[in-house]
Amino acid sequence: MVEKLIVINPRGFCAGVEMAIKALTWMIKLFPTPIYCYHEIVHNDWIVEVFVKNGIIFVESPDEIPIGAVSMLSAHGTSPVIKNIFVKNSTILIDSVCPLVTKVHHEAKKLSSNNSQIIYIGHKDHDEAKGAMGVAPEKMTLIEKPEDLINFKPDDPTNVSLLAQTTLALSEWENILKKSKELYPEIKIPRKSDLCYATTNRQEAVIQIAPKVDTVIVVGSITSSNTNALVNTVKNLDINVLRINNVDELNETHKLGEKIAITAGASAPDHIVEQIISKINPKNIQHFTNIEEEEYFPLPIELRKIQKNLITILNQIFPQLKETNNIPNKVRDRDWTATDALKEL
Ligand code: SF4
Repeated sequence: MVEKLIVINPRGFCAGVEMAIKALTWMIKLFPTPIYCYHEIVHNDWIVEVFVKNGIIFVESPDEIPIGAVSMLSAHGTSPVIKNIFVKNSTILIDSVCPLVTKVHHEAKKLSSNNSQIIYIGHKDHDEAKGAMGVAPEKMTLIEKPEDLINFKPDDPTNVSLLAQTTLALSEWENILKKSKELYPEIKIPRKSDLCYATTNRQEAVIQIAPKVDTVIVVGSITSSNTNALVNTVKNLDINVLRINNVDELNETHKLGEKIAITAGASAPDHIVEQIISKINPKNIQHFTNIEEEEYFPLPIELRKIQKNLITILNQIFPQLKETNNIPNKVRDRDWTATDALKEL
């Protein structure tokens, strides 16, 4: 029997994932399916399956979409070459890239135009790293671990900079940063770090709680980088960790120990966390909040323009509805969560 379960906050959906899920739900409401989405909209198996059932076709290359398609680009960011092909071949294209990934793309563009050679810390098979590396491939070298720095051979060691995937474990990023600073003392790092607020907040919260429990359950998919970063963070503390996608993967709860904590990666829906808590059925449940998150990212600008035009047209056709306020002047996106959106599918 589990004596105590600590539910860690913040966990689950970040502002970028919220925005991307809502954006793709709007696409289903506005356009006939199939709608094509470049890469999984977010790295979560359950969410991808819901969208597939609702007519979304996820593709790994722009060659897979027909000319004239309605398309979306995922939250992970897309390289300029690939994006241009989507622009050319789609009648409607919405880019749901997270603004924090866009920031890294802007930095890569700016630094490379200043002839700086860039160490990009990331995972080579991750969609975000592939997209970012495509911004300035000739100036960027992907580094996954400190030993890889041997492959980085800048022409000018005084003009080197460092960028990173937003969803890494703090520990893996810090190790490469340290080694890079030793090799290139003048290295430029645009901000304190490129790791996003959601990644760092979830890791900092789990670091507070993990030493107090026997096992930490991390909810999220194996393809989710920030989920894996949470797993590695707990492992580095020498605490037992169990990553699961859903409640069906939770077996033998008696082996987890008397005290358990639960958290979730930034793309894991909270109803799965709730189902797991119910199955564990602990004697006591405690909630731990390390920091309150208030970040909000509005829908992609192209989608907001379509919504605005639609409201204008409806108001013109049905002026009586405008008077009764049945057609709002503005869609109140802040009042509608990704969880609400998923419930409508
Ligand atoms: Fe954006 Fe961070 Fe969420 Fe990725 S994990 S979508 S970078 S907020």
